[in-house]
Amino acid sequence: MTWDFSTDPDFQEQLDWMSEFVRREIWPLETIWRELGLDGLRDAIAPLQQEVKSMGLWAAHLPPELGGQGMGQVRLGLMHEILGSSPIAPLAFGNAAPDSGNSEILALAGTPQQKDRWLYPLLAGDLRSAFSMTEPDTPGSDPTQLRTRAVLDGDGWVIDGHKWFSSNGSIADFLIVMAVTDPDARPAQRASMFIVPRDTPGVEIVRDVPTMEHPWERFGEYGGHAEILYEGVRVGSDALLGAEGQGFVLAQQRLGPGRIHHCMRWLGVARRAFDMMCERATYRHAHGSLLADKQTVQNWIADSAAEMQAARLMTLHAAWVMDTQGARAALVDIALIKFYGAKVLHDVIDRALQVHGSLGYSTDLPLEQMYRFARGARFYDGPDEVHRQTVARRILAGYQPPPGLVPSEHLPTRREQARERFAHLLGAVTAND
Ligand SMILES: Cc1cc2nc3c(=O)[nH]c(=O)nc-3n(C[C@H](O)[C@H](O)[C@H](O)COP(=O)(O)OP(=O)(O)OC[C@H]3O[C@@H](n4cnc5c(N)ncnc54)[C@H](O)[C@@H]3O)c2cc1C
Repeated sequence: MTWDFSTDPDFQEQLDWMSEFVRREIWPLETIWRELGLDGLRDAIAPLQQEVKSMGLWAAHLPPELGGQGMGQVRLGLMHEILGSSPIAPLAFGNAAPDSGNSEILALAGTPQQKDRWLYPLLAGDLRSAFSMTEPDTPGSDPTQLRTRAVLDGDGWVIDGHKWFSSNGSIADFLIVMAVTDPDARPAQRASMFIVPRDTPGVEIVRDVPTMEHPWERFGEYGGHAEILYEGVRVGSDALLGAEGQGFVLAQQRLGPGRIHHCMRWLGVARRAFDMMCERATYRHAHGSLLADKQTVQNWIADSAAEMQAARLMTLHAAWVMDTQGARAALVDIALIKFYGAKVLHDVIDRALQVHGSLGYSTDLPLEQMYRFARGARFYDGPDEVHRQTVARRILAGYQPPPGLVPSEHLPTRREQARERFAHLLGAVTAND
C-alpha cells in the first residue's frame, strides 16, 4: 500500500526555485503592470520567460512532445499554488489562462495543420487566444441551451451569435468559439468548437465588460472579459476543432484539469492574504492588547489555516485521482474542490481584510482587489450550485429507500431486531437478576 504526502526532493528544489523567483521577479511587477501597458508588460516578462525556459519549466501543462514537461496534475497543482500567488506569474511560465486551456484543446483535438498554425505559436508566446462559449442571453451553467449557430455553407461554416465574458477576447489573435452545429442532436452532441481568427470579417469585439474585478471602462488589456458579436462569420472547414458535435466533450476535457489548477492558484492567493492577516495581528494594538491576542482573531487564523489545509489536501487528492485513474474517476473530487476552494478563498481574504480595517478596504493593500477577484471564482468554470448538484446527485445515486420506508437507523426497530438476535443473552441477564 502507498499513501504518501511527500514531494520528491528534486521537484521540491524546483518548487523552491519557483517560489523565490516569483517573489523576486514577479511580485514587484504587479504594482506597475497597468502603467507598463500590454507591450511594456510583454517586454518586462520576456527575459523572465527565458529564465523559466532555461529551468525547463515552460508550458509545463503540456506533454513533452509539445515542449511541456508532462508533469501530471499533482506536480502541476503544486506549481500552480506558487504561480497563483500573483495574477501575472502564469504569463512568465507559459501557462496563463485561457491560453493554457486552449493549448490543451489544440493539443488534444487539433490537426497537424491546426497545431502548426495555432498551437506552436501560442506556446511560443507569439499568439494570444480566448475561449468564447458563454452568452448573455442563455445560461452559461447549462450550455445545452447555447444559441450561437454554425451552419455548413459550401466548403466552410458561417457563424452567428452573441458571446460575452470571453476572457482576453479583446487582445486575442484567435478565438475558440463554441457553436451549435446540429440543434436536433442529443443535447451533449449539439455543439462544436471552431478556431476563429479575430480579424475575420463579422467578428466584432463590442467591449471589455467592466466587472467587480475591473470596475472601470477599459479595452484591450490583459485579463479583460470581452463581449463579442459574430455576424455572418465565414470560416473554412479547417476551422472545425475536433469532430462535429464534440464541443462538450472537448470542453469537459479542458475544464477538468483547469479546475484543479484554479483551485491551487486560489490557495496561492489565500496564502498571501493569510500571511498579511497574521503579520497585521502581530503589531496592531487595540483595546489593551495586540490583535494577535484577541480570541476572534486567533479563531480566524486557526480556522483559515484549517480550511486552507483541507482545500489543499482535497485538491491534491483530486489531482492524484486524475493522474492515477483518469478524468472521469475524478469528476466528484473536482466538483467538490471547485465550490469548496472558492469558499475558502473568499473567507480567508474576507477575514484578512477585516483584520486590516480601513487599510484592508483601501487600495493601498491588494486585499480589496483579491476580494473582488475571489467573488468571480464562484461563477467561472461552473457556479457553486451546479458543482454541489453534481456532488449530491453522485452521492445520492449510492443510496436507496429503506425496506418499508423505515429509516435504517430507526432505534425501536433496531432494538427489536437486536432483542431477537441476542435473546439468549438477555434471557441470561434476566435469570441473574
Ligand atoms: C471572471 C470570469 C471569467 C470568465 N471567463 C470566461 C471565458 O473565458 N469564456 C467563457 O465562455 N465564459 C467565461 N466566463 C463565464 C462563466 O463561465 C459563466 O459566468 C458561468 O458559466 C455561469 O454562467 P452565467 O453567468 O450565464 O450564469 P447562469 O447560468 O445564468 O447562472 C446564474 C445562477 O443561477 C444559479 N443556478 C444555475 N444552475 C443552477 C442549478 N443547477 N442549481 C441551482 N442553481 C443554479 C446559480 O446561482 C448561478 O450562479 C467567465 C466568468 C467570469 C466571472
